[in-house]
Amino acid sequence: MYEKIAENFLKNNGCLLLNHRVVKINHQNNKIKSIVISNKSKQKTISSDSYISSMPITELVQRLSPQPPKEIIQASKNLHYRSFVTASLVLSSSEPFPDTWIYVHSPEVKIGRVQNFKKWSHFMVSDPDKIALGVEYFCTEGDELWSMTDKDLIELALTELEKIKLIKKSDYLDGFVVRAEKAYPVYDSSYPKNIKLVKEYLANFKNLISIGRGGLFKYNNMDHSILTGLYAAENLLGASHNLEEVNADQEYQEEKTENGD
Ligand SMILES: Cc1cc2nc3c(=O)[nH]c(=O)nc-3n(C[C@H](O)[C@H](O)[C@H](O)COP(=O)(O)OP(=O)(O)OC[C@H]3O[C@@H](n4cnc5c(N)ncnc54)[C@H](O)[C@@H]3O)c2cc1C
Repeated sequence: MYEKIAENFLKNNGCLLLNHRVVKINHQNNKIKSIVISNKSKQKTISSDSYISSMPITELVQRLSPQPPKEIIQASKNLHYRSFVTASLVLSSSEPFPDTWIYVHSPEVKIGRVQNFKKWSHFMVSDPDKIALGVEYFCTEGDELWSMTDKDLIELALTELEKIKLIKKSDYLDGFVVRAEKAYPVYDSSYPKNIKLVKEYLANFKNLISIGRGGLFKYNNMDHSILTGLYAAENLLGASHNLEEVNADQEYQEEKTENGD
């Protein structure tokens, strides 16, 4: 889907720069003037009339130049995200469990959740004699789990899965690791106060809109995140959507009643 969106964007003369980080956001008189982007080897300054940002809101604030007041920077530093690593394993095995995913609460292992990709769709694992599992660990950037080598993480995942009797280690064929930083906004006791300060400050910039999960510091699903982007684009064209109202019902999408509602 995202590839298709990118394709359409390019067809309409959009300029898409992948693998670049926004390292500085220059502002003056309550307007963003330009951003500095970097792809490790080179830096470049880009100017625009309007800016939509989906990077974590904490990073957005901390990249502003001149820097926001101390209390705003501190509020952004008091907002935390959890990160996520997943060991994707291919095994020669039949169905390890009948569900698409299961949460693991056993205190003797660190696994948080296991995805059973074949159960999402058989198109995800075409070989009938193999399965693919995503062994997910919730962690914090820089902690022990986050810093483990891919090899050690795969070994840990295999050992733990065997311990809770989901697989036999000897069935392992191949694997790789994916790390996602700042995957979950942390709703701790001080986050309402801190996010309010940060968002009120950012509202001063009339040509900047922060969107998405990390950008709104909200536990958004993909559809919510995309909707905030669409609303932001419409707002630039004169609409007045309130992005805070997206995903405001706090409904848990994975929940089902016994009636299947
Ligand atoms: C483990 C997990 C499972 C999920 N499962 C589902 C699911 O089943 N269904 C569902 O609907 N949603 C799911 N979600 C939620 C979904 O992934 C998010 O809602 C969605 O990806 C958020 O999109 P986004 O564009 O706001 O942010 P992201 O996808 O996080 O994109 C933000 C981008 O900003 C980039 N960035 C960060 N800093 C900078 C910088 N300084 N300069 C430039 N770029 C920067 C990042 O590299 C990243 O690419 C899941 C999330 C997680 C973590």
